[in-house]
Amino acid sequence: MIKYPSSIDEMIDKYKDLLSISDEPINLGCTLIDQPNQADIRWDSSSKTWFLRFNANVPMFALVHELGHIYFARKKSKYVYFACYRNDPEIDDRLYPLLNNLLDCFINYNLTLFNEIYHLYQAIVFEYLDQIEIFKEHIIHTKVPIVLLSWYILFFIDHNYLIKKQERAIRSNEMTQLRFYLKKQILQSSSEVDELILNTFTEKIKNFDNIKAINDPKTILNFFIDVLQATTLWDKSTLKKQVILSYPKIQL
Ligand SMILES: [Zn+2]
Repeated sequence: MIKYPSSIDEMIDKYKDLLSISDEPINLGCTLIDQPNQADIRWDSSSKTWFLRFNANVPMFALVHELGHIYFARKKSKYVYFACYRNDPEIDDRLYPLLNNLLDCFINYNLTLFNEIYHLYQAIVFEYLDQIEIFKEHIIHTKVPIVLLSWYILFFIDHNYLIKKQERAIRSNEMTQLRFYLKKQILQSSSEVDELILNTFTEKIKNFDNIKAINDPKTILNFFIDVLQATTLWDKSTLKKQVILSYPKIQL
């Protein structure tokens, strides 16, 4: 049995309660992840149990975020495929970081409606701003445009729609700087994404604000397609097929 801090058990129970998912069987720390700050969740259909894996030093918000996938799938959209990513050899791997981060924005929006969770979320967002120089180096050394675009989605939505207005005003300089570095690195690392494409991509992401509270999976998946199409890396019919493979049983 791998050891993990016993206090995590209690905290997980507390947040399961808060999210009204106490009846969900979750097996904790069955395998510890070696990447720092990481957690993930998967459904095991044979044992009908969720497996929540995490690094021993994981921030509490990362764990609550994984619970948020179950909460969102069950309570908001009643759509189980929002709880964990579907593996299929026909799914284009490059889509994973983008689809994952788009979905995460909806999970985080729903979690931040709980005051008890908002402060955990805010701490993580501000940590990136506190360590902006370190993260800037990390951005500069990342040469994969898809990964950079997926970070851009998260930061754009964190900064503009999830962090409370008064807090946004205090940290707006650093937020703008962080997104500036990201944009610059996307343009430098990609031969396909130019400034015009990045601007259209940003405009499409802004639609999040209009649909963030929606419970309908179809609207959410069409939003994913719309944003991804703006990258020009895939055409609409390819994206539609890929999104159906990733999130099946929805008539798009
Ligand atoms: Zn997630």
